[in-house]
Amino acid sequence: MEIRYTSTRSNIEVTASQAILKGLSDDGGLFVPTQIPRLTEPLSELAAMSYKELAYTVMSKFLTDFTEEELRSCIEGAYDEKFDTPAIAPLREADGAYYLELFHGSTIAFKDMALSILPYLMTTAAKKNGTDKKIVILTATSGDTGKAAMAGFADVPGTEIIVFYPKDGVSNIQEKQMVTQRGANTHVVAIRGNFDDAQTAVKKMFNDRAMNERIGEAGYQFSSANSINIGRLVPQIVYYVYAYAQLLKDGKIREGEEINITVPTGNFGNILAAYYAKLMGLPVKKLICASNINKVLADFFETGDYDRKREFILTSSPSMDILISSNLERLIYRIAGNDAKACAAFMSELSGTGEYKITDAMRASLSDFFGGFATEEENFAGIRALYEKTGYVIDTHTGIGNAVYRRYAELTGDTAKTVIASTASPYKFAVSVVGAIAPDRVSGKSDFELIDELRALSGTPEPAAITDIRTAPVRHQTVSDVADMPSVVLDILGVR
Ligand SMILES: *Cc1c(COP(=O)(O)O)cnc(C)c1O
Repeated sequence: MEIRYTSTRSNIEVTASQAILKGLSDDGGLFVPTQIPRLTEPLSELAAMSYKELAYTVMSKFLTDFTEEELRSCIEGAYDEKFDTPAIAPLREADGAYYLELFHGSTIAFKDMALSILPYLMTTAAKKNGTDKKIVILTATSGDTGKAAMAGFADVPGTEIIVFYPKDGVSNIQEKQMVTQRGANTHVVAIRGNFDDAQTAVKKMFNDRAMNERIGEAGYQFSSANSINIGRLVPQIVYYVYAYAQLLKDGKIREGEEINITVPTGNFGNILAAYYAKLMGLPVKKLICASNINKVLADFFETGDYDRKREFILTSSPSMDILISSNLERLIYRIAGNDAKACAAFMSELSGTGEYKITDAMRASLSDFFGGFATEEENFAGIRALYEKTGYVIDTHTGIGNAVYRRYAELTGDTAKTVIASTASPYKFAVSVVGAIAPDRVSGKSDFELIDELRALSGTPEPAAITDIRTAPVRHQTVSDVADMPSVVLDILGVR
């Protein structure tokens, strides 16, 4: 059965490879599958599969215009020794919850799970569609996507990648990881603004006809490595199925038993992938959407009102400091009854007034979700409590998921087994993590001294991604105003 892709804002239809190649639809909408394929294999069969086999089983249902050979070769290229464990996404039990460690790839955040395969999917899609243009990946990052996307696309023939990050909105380690990136086709630009500014400006460039024509004449075309690209979301569905399969294999659940999934959320991409897994037929009870104090999503799930008119707060979970959660548009489209016109109207309200309110009927179909948030203090207290009880150390993003899940369980009495997406290595946010666990050891120490502290506290080896940046030279130093982003792009491409 062929799965086609339509836009959340109009009724156009394209193939999977075309959707991946374009990234964003011309009407400004996001590509969504016209139907969600079902997991037809028995769960016990899935439980016997390796990560790669499961990735093929899940992804082949969505990417139906890729041949078996093409897709298998993408998967082989992506999930190899770049990951520091053959399990790729191991599940770790601590204090009654299951932490799905998604940070074993080369940049130690969950973005590697999809961005290690996206370059393969993209170049395969380019070939399939006879594209003769060089693909320019424009990426806005709240800290982790940028590095993971560059690691994936560095020196991939036929591509250039340009990453924009908020100058004061990422951790020191995140910034160091990005500005030391190697690869002749990688470009990193710090902007004077926040993540929402960067993401909005990038989306504007995608939809700027004149700019697209100009770069087109010079032999380029834009695409996206952000989770607005469906090629990011599909690989993310895999690890939720894999988590369930591992629980089943380890005898932690019965076949068919429902589990909860908790996801620390920013742009709503990772949790949307979990929702798609549920729609495929994975036995999932609640999707627990955890926000930090930028709690626009928690408020949305409580009231049905999406209101981004509020102060943008910088937190210790910077990759979740987001007020415009792009992927929510895909959920809105679905609960509006796959009505592109209605969805487009909500989105234009959002960009016009900063707010929209969904209907009661739409709200009624949100019962799959529970939205909650945690403050900095609750986050740190939870990280510390987990460490003191079990010795297990989680990062500050996973910490938000942890705190919100613990509160949810207390509030509802729900005892279903729960998987918490563990989205980054604690090493990536060592300053905050050591601050949470052993605040008396922080004062006067550099980032790398705190990494040494963390190694002592956690007893886990330092990941290569950290060791590398201890000595790597800075290779990128461009800083730009948000308004100048288009001219920075044209300069980089030499289009004038
Ligand atoms: C990107 C990111 C998130 C948020 O994921 P979304 O898909 O944007 O909701 C959470 N934690 C970490 C560490 C991230 O890098």
